[in-house]
Amino acid sequence: MKALVIDKADFRHNIESVKKYAEKTLPDDNGNKLKIIAVVKANGYGYGLVPYTQFLIDNGMDFFAVATIEEALKLRKAGIKENILMLSSTAIKEEVERLVENNIIITVGSKEAAQVANEIGKEQNKKIRCHLKIDTGFGRYGFIYSDRDKIVEAIKPLENLKIEGTFTHFSIAFYNKDEYTKLQFKRFIDCIEVLKMNEIETGMLHCCNSSAFIKFPEMHLNAVRIGSCFTGKMAFTNTLGLKPIGEFKTNVVEIKTLPKGFNVGYSNAYTTTKETKVAIIPVGNMTALNMDCADDMFRFVDKLRDFMGAFKRLFKKRMLYVNVNNQKCPILGRIGTYHVTVDITGKNVNIGDEVIVDINPKYLDSSIERIYI
Ligand SMILES: *Cc1c(COP(=O)(O)O)cnc(C)c1O
Repeated sequence: MKALVIDKADFRHNIESVKKYAEKTLPDDNGNKLKIIAVVKANGYGYGLVPYTQFLIDNGMDFFAVATIEEALKLRKAGIKENILMLSSTAIKEEVERLVENNIIITVGSKEAAQVANEIGKEQNKKIRCHLKIDTGFGRYGFIYSDRDKIVEAIKPLENLKIEGTFTHFSIAFYNKDEYTKLQFKRFIDCIEVLKMNEIETGMLHCCNSSAFIKFPEMHLNAVRIGSCFTGKMAFTNTLGLKPIGEFKTNVVEIKTLPKGFNVGYSNAYTTTKETKVAIIPVGNMTALNMDCADDMFRFVDKLRDFMGAFKRLFKKRMLYVNVNNQKCPILGRIGTYHVTVDITGKNVNIGDEVIVDINPKYLDSSIERIYI
């Protein structure tokens, strides 16, 4: 057996904590409470797109955001009727048509995307539901904040768009230096003012992800986009008492005793130094074990930090474990695609015993079962 087991009580606890914290924000000028947009991208942060979303619905959430068309359509196919915002902008007509057909709120982040959506609206004689995206310094989707006149020119003449919201995304809100996030916020607000002055409807305004939601109550505006708070796995110090919600569980499949001087795993990176009792566990890279970050650092300071970490690890003993019957068992040798060998010498371990492995569910093969208990 292999499964990601999600504890409903812990998940519910996180949802309630987020709601309670959101309630501290005063209603806007129209008396509307702070809206929570639940981000369910990346297969529901790995917890299973459909069951994860359904659980959020069962606990009061009614507005969702995804990052891909595939995710949006999968939710509709599963019968989910709630509002769904596609966070990525696209100017590819067939894609926009599919989204519109499925009543997905699209993101418009460029003149081209706006024109395509407007054209579809004209053809179908309706207004296309959308949110405008402003790029306040992320360099991804969105109109560049400083091109105010261009945004006005691009949007103003279009009659078949129904702008229900306007948003931006922070690049470094989790970090302990706040200046850049404050700068992005100011760029966003200044841009909104220009849109309003030009009588462009901006709808609900939102910019906070989980980190900014916690750190910057003054930036909440009309809505917040919450992903990692629900999972309890935060890139930022967790001050809301959020709990991890899931554990990856499997079982010991084989046990044997290896003689002294015996190789374990690929590249012969480990040799037993004594007779060693081992258990074989069916987890590996394919089950998200020890997935390294991509090597995407290129600034000298980042490379230096990475190097210092590697240098420190040179003198550290190997610290990779799996947990069998509440006993920490070290992994021997390199991690395979589907298997690892762990040292159980002197421990009480039997075939079939439950194994708990610390992984990031985002990288877990989507074919592996997600169980909500
Ligand atoms: C992922 C994402 C979020 C949610 O971020 P968390 O830090 O997980 O809360 C919000 N907005 C956008 C545009 C995102 O891509």
